[in-house]
Amino acid sequence: MNEVTAEEVEKFLDSNIGFAKQYCNLRYRAKVISDLLGAKEAAVDFSNYHSLNSVEESEIIFDLLRDFQENLQAEKGIFNIMKKLCFLLQADCMSLFMYRTRNGIAELATRLFNVCKDAVFEDCLVMPEGEIVFPLDMGVVGHVAHAKKIVNVPNTKEDEHFCDFVDNLTEYETKSILASPIMNGKDVVAVIMAVNKVDGPHFTKRDEEILLKYLNFANLVMKVFHLSYLHNCETRRGQILLWSGSKVFEELTDIERQFHKVLYTVRAFLNCDRYSVGLLDMTKQKILLWSGSKVFEELTDIERQFHKVLYTVRAFLNCDRYSVGLLDMTKQKILLKYLNFANLVMKVFHLSYLHNCETRRGQILLWSGSKVFEELTDIERQFHKVLYTVRAFLNCDRYSVGLLDMTKQKEINFYKVIDYILHGKEDIKVIPNPPPDHWALVSGLPTYVAQHGLICNIMNAPAEDFFAFQREPLDESGWMIRNVLSMPIVNKKEEIVGVATFYNRKDGKPFDEMDETLMESLTQFLGWSLLNSDTYESMNRLENRKDIFQDIVKYHVKCDNEEIQKILKTREVYGKEPWDCEEEELSEILRQELPDAEQYEINKFHFSDLPLTELELVKCGIQMYYELKVVDKFHIPQEALVRFMYSLSKGYRKITYHNWRHGFNVGQTMFSLLVTGKLKRYFTDLEALAMVTAAFCHDIDHRGTNNLYQMKSQNPLAKLHGSSILERHHLEFGKTLLRDENLNIFRNLSRRQHEHAIHMMDIAIIATDLALYFKKRAMFQKIVDQSKTYESPEEWTQYMMLEQTRKEIVMAMMMTACDLSAITKPWEVQSKVALLVAAEFWEQGDLERTVLQQNPIPMMDRNKADELPKLQVGFIDFVCTFVYKEFSRFHEETTPMLDGITNNRKEWKALADEYDAKVKALEEEKQQEQATKQAASGNEPGDTPTSRSCCIQ
Ligand SMILES: [Zn+2]
Repeated sequence: MNEVTAEEVEKFLDSNIGFAKQYCNLRYRAKVISDLLGAKEAAVDFSNYHSLNSVEESEIIFDLLRDFQENLQAEKGIFNIMKKLCFLLQADCMSLFMYRTRNGIAELATRLFNVCKDAVFEDCLVMPEGEIVFPLDMGVVGHVAHAKKIVNVPNTKEDEHFCDFVDNLTEYETKSILASPIMNGKDVVAVIMAVNKVDGPHFTKRDEEILLKYLNFANLVMKVFHLSYLHNCETRRGQILLWSGSKVFEELTDIERQFHKVLYTVRAFLNCDRYSVGLLDMTKQKILLWSGSKVFEELTDIERQFHKVLYTVRAFLNCDRYSVGLLDMTKQKILLKYLNFANLVMKVFHLSYLHNCETRRGQILLWSGSKVFEELTDIERQFHKVLYTVRAFLNCDRYSVGLLDMTKQKEINFYKVIDYILHGKEDIKVIPNPPPDHWALVSGLPTYVAQHGLICNIMNAPAEDFFAFQREPLDESGWMIRNVLSMPIVNKKEEIVGVATFYNRKDGKPFDEMDETLMESLTQFLGWSLLNSDTYESMNRLENRKDIFQDIVKYHVKCDNEEIQKILKTREVYGKEPWDCEEEELSEILRQELPDAEQYEINKFHFSDLPLTELELVKCGIQMYYELKVVDKFHIPQEALVRFMYSLSKGYRKITYHNWRHGFNVGQTMFSLLVTGKLKRYFTDLEALAMVTAAFCHDIDHRGTNNLYQMKSQNPLAKLHGSSILERHHLEFGKTLLRDENLNIFRNLSRRQHEHAIHMMDIAIIATDLALYFKKRAMFQKIVDQSKTYESPEEWTQYMMLEQTRKEIVMAMMMTACDLSAITKPWEVQSKVALLVAAEFWEQGDLERTVLQQNPIPMMDRNKADELPKLQVGFIDFVCTFVYKEFSRFHEETTPMLDGITNNRKEWKALADEYDAKVKALEEEKQQEQATKQAASGNEPGDTPTSRSCCIQ
């Protein structure tokens, strides 16, 4: 029998693929796979099984993929890849060198050393103290990093780059080398090196191909690790968040559009971060990771969080993987398999990328939605963050989380419900101390889940008796519960600390097993949260502290029983306290006491507060509620109304400009815009009530310094609110007052009315941040343009009222018009008020100089007080005129404001010109003096060019 050559066998097998497959499957497949997947002792015999066929190779790929999904430590992942590569390349061992720069000089440091196919991770991992550092101009590794391409050295003795430095150190003889860089974009991240081909003189072309193919994995691991690093970085510092957070609430009225914008911005930022600072960060991260200090512990905790986020991603990936796997088993098409594999890799990367964006998006909302942020304690915030992070993976349009009061051992008592609306306009609502009949609790399902610790899946809610409460939609959007998935949230101590309930699968079908699995993995997320009975107590203490603070504030601000008698003179008239009087008796007194609207001109744009006392302004403010006819309609308790307005006047500090007078003026202009400007037609009575109230509250507790100053002086407010710092504070302050029973003018509103009123106040007050005004301009202008295309005002009004967003944009711009309205007042008023504004600015400028040791901007520099007219002209031209021009185009009834500003501009311009002329005259005088001096000192008279340039300077 003739000897059969290897080539002949190969040829035979290639032309009889069916046989080859069967043969391999029977003889080798099981063994090879079991070898590869675990059993270390049963090493594959290289001499018998010379090279792997593609089927086996693809098994390795899946094995790697699994590793990759389970190992979030980059080194561990790469270590596994290197082990497999050692086997595939038949290299004696492999090493990994990390690229980094230190003090601006690039170098490579051993990270994984001497990895052979049976290596143990811990043995190969090089700790910082044991690492060998190569400069880039030394050795084959340095050459690879420098050349940024794969290098195959068949014989080290003949290679100009090889240096035996490490060989001498380790008493090892390097004969052949195959090394490749691991790239991130255009940057070298690391170099991977295989040493000494076992079954041949050197590495072959095919080995190079294998290495390059598998390096994609290494790349992927590095990238995910890098993304996780970004995530860590962010979670720990929140810097990027604060930065991007300011973008979100700028246009509260159109949140969804904003989200796109923010996502886009964040993405751009991500790229920039990854490509420019990425490498530096990687090394920093390593140092932190290896330092084994407290930082390391902190990191691992956060890493665990990331771990769990990816756990869910994996749940999605598993599906993909199985389907890919099935395809392979049936068709055995290697190419197709690789194609799928490439897809999968892309998907992994894309998902982790998406996750990142999502995390940011979630956190942006978390940080900027101060409404939510402030109502949550530290631990709840963490908890909320996790939930919010995964919400993109949730296939439902709403979910609510009920948090259990852990201090009550036996009773099931939800002390807070956080309601996440994911459909339509995204929103988060926090309901502290929810009543048992709150829609999220009334079914009794959350209580049941909390009691029994079971996952409950309600396939058809309307058919269930306990959802019979849903006779009408649960909110204005017409939202109703169709199906429900509810599950307990269990902490590390296995205590049930809350219940998460998911509503309405997005495709309309009931939640299925897949959803349940996902929810189960979610319990892991939530379990991570530190929410347990120990922390609950400290958390409670924190909440109490906040309460105490609010009580102190309220104590000082609240209208007391003596003060209310200045307006509601029940003692004088009836000889009893207000709370002992009937509403009718109270309105009798108020009819006497409150000013006549006509006489006081409280609905006029030219109204001036200057002749009135602060108490009179309080009375005028109260009268506006009667003029709007909201007192009767919404059953506003009159005692509360008086106390509320009086408390507002006390809540404003006695500072130069942003005092109660300013607060009142803004409310008065809002009232005038609604009534005289006829803008009321777009808004409901409830909205008008909210808008006037928001205007009165809008600057309460102002400190006489602007947002920038709060940031520069590191005021705690700046830490609390990411953006629109003061506006958020005014809003919170106003809402705190409204939460007090005695001041709550919204007391008799239904829950839905109350929510809507507060929502409008949120938007209105945040809108007074002038930084947001410029973003709103275009949107408002579009609405005004649109209004001109309608023939009848009725049709237009109908159209306007169709969409809440449009109304909110108009309202936001109305707030700006009110806030700036001093600029439209008659010149006698404007000239005085402008000085007050300037004086307050100068006071801030003084603070900047003394406290912050910075030079103020000209507007705040009292040494530049002479420039006030010029500054006013600029302010009118660049900021104010647009508002009043557009409003008078929108509603001609508001034209008095435009006339006012036009006149004031003329006055300021005249003063500015006067000042300019004075300056010019002074300069000319100086020039003259100089010229005469020069002439007197006997300079050469013909030297005109020099002297002219001197003058200009
Ligand atoms: Zn203001």
